[in-house]
Amino acid sequence: MAQSQQSFHLHTLGCPKNQVDSDKIAGTLIDDGLIPTHDPSAADLVVVNTCAFIEEAREESINTILALERERSPGARIVVTGCMAERYGSELADALPEVDQVAGFGVPVHFRTKPDGLSATAETQAPQFDLLNLRRPASDLPWAYVKIAEGCDRACGFCAIPSFRGPQKSREVESILGEIEQLGVREVVLVAQDLASYGSDLGRRGAIVSLVQAAQERVDRVRLLYLYPSDLSDELIEAILVSEVPYFDLSLQHVARGHLRRMRRWGHGEKFLERIKRIRELCPDAAFRSNFIVGYPGETEDDQAELLTWLQEAQLDWCGFFTYSREEGTYASNLDDQVPTELMRERHAELTELQDVITATRRDGMVGKTIEVLVDRQGIGRSHREAPEIDGVVHVPSTLKPGEIYDVVVTRSEGPDIEAVQVETQ
Ligand code: SF4
Repeated sequence: MAQSQQSFHLHTLGCPKNQVDSDKIAGTLIDDGLIPTHDPSAADLVVVNTCAFIEEAREESINTILALERERSPGARIVVTGCMAERYGSELADALPEVDQVAGFGVPVHFRTKPDGLSATAETQAPQFDLLNLRRPASDLPWAYVKIAEGCDRACGFCAIPSFRGPQKSREVESILGEIEQLGVREVVLVAQDLASYGSDLGRRGAIVSLVQAAQERVDRVRLLYLYPSDLSDELIEAILVSEVPYFDLSLQHVARGHLRRMRRWGHGEKFLERIKRIRELCPDAAFRSNFIVGYPGETEDDQAELLTWLQEAQLDWCGFFTYSREEGTYASNLDDQVPTELMRERHAELTELQDVITATRRDGMVGKTIEVLVDRQGIGRSHREAPEIDGVVHVPSTLKPGEIYDVVVTRSEGPDIEAVQVETQ
């Protein structure tokens, strides 16, 4: 009797880098003959790609595993992979005996029960493949993330990523360009833990510039996320400005000089402002995003006041604020002067309130302007100012075709989003 085709359901948590890993796991499972399904209760294999970034993300990952475990059909396998599997592999396997396999980075996801009966308990295994360079399915959206490196060589005080993702490992240019061509999209969003230092582990410091240029020859838009400020060279600024996407996602984390040193990071607010000002002189339309950590140990009222003043002056388009999470094994977890949770929350609210007004004002300033949008799906587009899934969107007429690029005029703004109509052609 012919057997029906087996299916898998893949649930992804966390950041864009995890999304890329999921695409590659999906590509491998499809190559193995499985078909994807959105319905976890109909799948023969349920895969949860977890995030271990901070406590909140870990809780969400565990809750998702437990919910999907209850939802799966009898006899279906459940496999946990991603950052939590890598960082807490054996603890997870012990704590969740109902999980069939805990697969850290580079460990193949088994879709069948192993013949030796190991599936009765969660299996752990040594890495066997290079997730970074695996094939992935073509995107069904007009944009896609492309991961160009894994790991990080820095030692920021709050960050556990280097301890479980390891040192930076850049992909070869040909592999990245091959993936970009195969995705068949109009916009690629390049991601890595420390994007601007792409290639330094291969002895090619500054290689990000030629990579961006080569990528630009293959797609309409190349967007870069997570730029460590010290590596934002003039050459890189130039490469970004000649692209169709003058968008600068600067990973700043704070602006007070002494506090940044406590974070074991480079730079200070004045230097960052100089860079932003210089870019705006070269390209007044450039858009800026940054992330900041609130309540890192030792943060004072003066540090907070300095950040508020800086934000007012910098007028960034978008900002993300994250309360500090005390991560096991990091430099900061042993520091004195941990900031009380309530105070962290107050500071977070103060920063968010200020930035929401700045963002909304900048969006108001767009009204009446003509912008070029890529339509992601019916009624939703993005100009160079909006990174997918992170920033606001441009609401466009539903008659505009997904995957196409149009000139539109902004008619209205509401918070982070704007509305636009198509430019009349003569
Ligand atoms: S650069 Fe980013 S990934 Fe690397 S240690 Fe710092 S915060 Fe972590």
